[in-house]
Amino acid sequence: TVAVVLYTSDLRVHDHPPLRAALQAADEVVPLFVRDPGVRATGFAAPNRNAFLADCLADLDASLRSRGGRLVVRTGPVAGQVRAVAAECGATEVHMAAGATGYGHRREEGLRDALRGQGVELHVHDSVTTVVAPGAVTPSGTDHYAVFTPYFRRWAREPLRDLCPAPRTVRVPEAVRGEPLPARDEVKGVSPGLPAGGESRGRDRLTRWLRNDLAAYEDQHDDLAGDATSRLSPYLHFGALSPVELVHRARGAHTGPGAEAFVRQLCWRDFHHQVMAARPDASRRDYRTRGDRWRSEEEAAEDIAAWRDGRTGYPVVDAAMRQLRHEGWMHNRARLLTASFLTKTLYVDWRVGARHFLELLVDGDIVNNQLNWQWVAGTGTDTRPHRVLNPVVQGKRFDPRGEYVRRWVPELRDVKDGRVHEPWRLSGPERPDDYPEPLIDLADGLARFKRARGRD
Ligand code: FAD
Repeated sequence: TVAVVLYTSDLRVHDHPPLRAALQAADEVVPLFVRDPGVRATGFAAPNRNAFLADCLADLDASLRSRGGRLVVRTGPVAGQVRAVAAECGATEVHMAAGATGYGHRREEGLRDALRGQGVELHVHDSVTTVVAPGAVTPSGTDHYAVFTPYFRRWAREPLRDLCPAPRTVRVPEAVRGEPLPARDEVKGVSPGLPAGGESRGRDRLTRWLRNDLAAYEDQHDDLAGDATSRLSPYLHFGALSPVELVHRARGAHTGPGAEAFVRQLCWRDFHHQVMAARPDASRRDYRTRGDRWRSEEEAAEDIAAWRDGRTGYPVVDAAMRQLRHEGWMHNRARLLTASFLTKTLYVDWRVGARHFLELLVDGDIVNNQLNWQWVAGTGTDTRPHRVLNPVVQGKRFDPRGEYVRRWVPELRDVKDGRVHEPWRLSGPERPDDYPEPLIDLADGLARFKRARGRD
């Protein structure tokens, strides 16, 4: 007997329930990844993620080969490709991870339709890309939690499933043809500081981070210059690491506030997944309408360009936007304050910012990106939707010595200490002549926001 494992956002061999179920059910399996032109057509396949994906596929193929198998890559609409592969090898089962987005749900439906009448059963597995399946826990009377804290309390009581060991051997039927793997160096327009992808790299990084940094996570995670978060988000995005394994290993590595604070962040991922699964249109539409009449892209074109390019004249905002372009990644605190600056200080639609982030973020994710943007814009699940982050206060608090700013804004390299956050106050030789003046007076931005939200 033969089973197909359809890989999507779960590019690993460790702790992989669909792979394990397929190996238990069949003598041979076909680990399959389909490059669907439909995904490209959505504009979602950005260069940074394509390059990281190529690394993940190469690493997965190498892991499977070391176990006697290989990864089969095909190009075409996913349902048709799965049906064709199943027919070629006489597979009777297809196993895959459940998806949380509208696209993921449509993909599952399409596969069910395509396989119906072929005698092939589709098995969709939960708890592969999230710890707790979206919809597994709900408050009474509604289909999802709209507030994080009660969700977290309920989530923390759910039993954690056991880990699935990585298989020792994987036998793939010889007759199934595959295409060459996509190569990272063929992808153009990649950020110069993009990290390398793949399960092996992710596991190395995880082990090092748990050993060296987890214990201090609670105290250090907001320190911009310290850069003390795990940076595991791209590996989680592509499923090169299992979130269930992360919870097990964080708790096993350390008992204390560091591990629990980290697990709580993983719960934020699950929280957003259950919101998006219940409300797939939240990828485009306001989760909660606040009557905003954001400035249009034409009206705010110059402000948007300055924000994107890191030329707003607010050093911590500019440092963050330049880090994003250089690395394809940004610290969470920096994401919060740059998103607040665009939406609440410049009063630009969150969708404009979310689109720019998705063009560059290596972990760029419809679920986490759109719902975090909505959280910051006050159209999402924040219980204090009118809060505004002041970039000078944020800079002084989370980069008190100004190291993060000096790392990314060379024009300010010679300005000492926290004074770097208010370059307009400097005089004499310390005042840089090539750094822009502030794009907007923060008090004006705040007043406009309050007026617009009717909170004068
Ligand atoms: P750590 O602090 O080490 O946290 C561990 C893991 O917990 C992360 O890897 C991530 O998977 C998860 N996590 C942490 N915070 C959040 C959160 N607020 N929401 C969801 N999951 C979280 N995260 C993405 O993975 N993809 C995105 O596209 C994305 N876009 C964002 C856009 C905005 C405007 C904001 C404010 C946040 C966004 N985040 C996104 C969430 C968060 O900023 C990143 O997950 C985090 O910075 C990744 O760094 P890390 O792995 O070092 O995090």
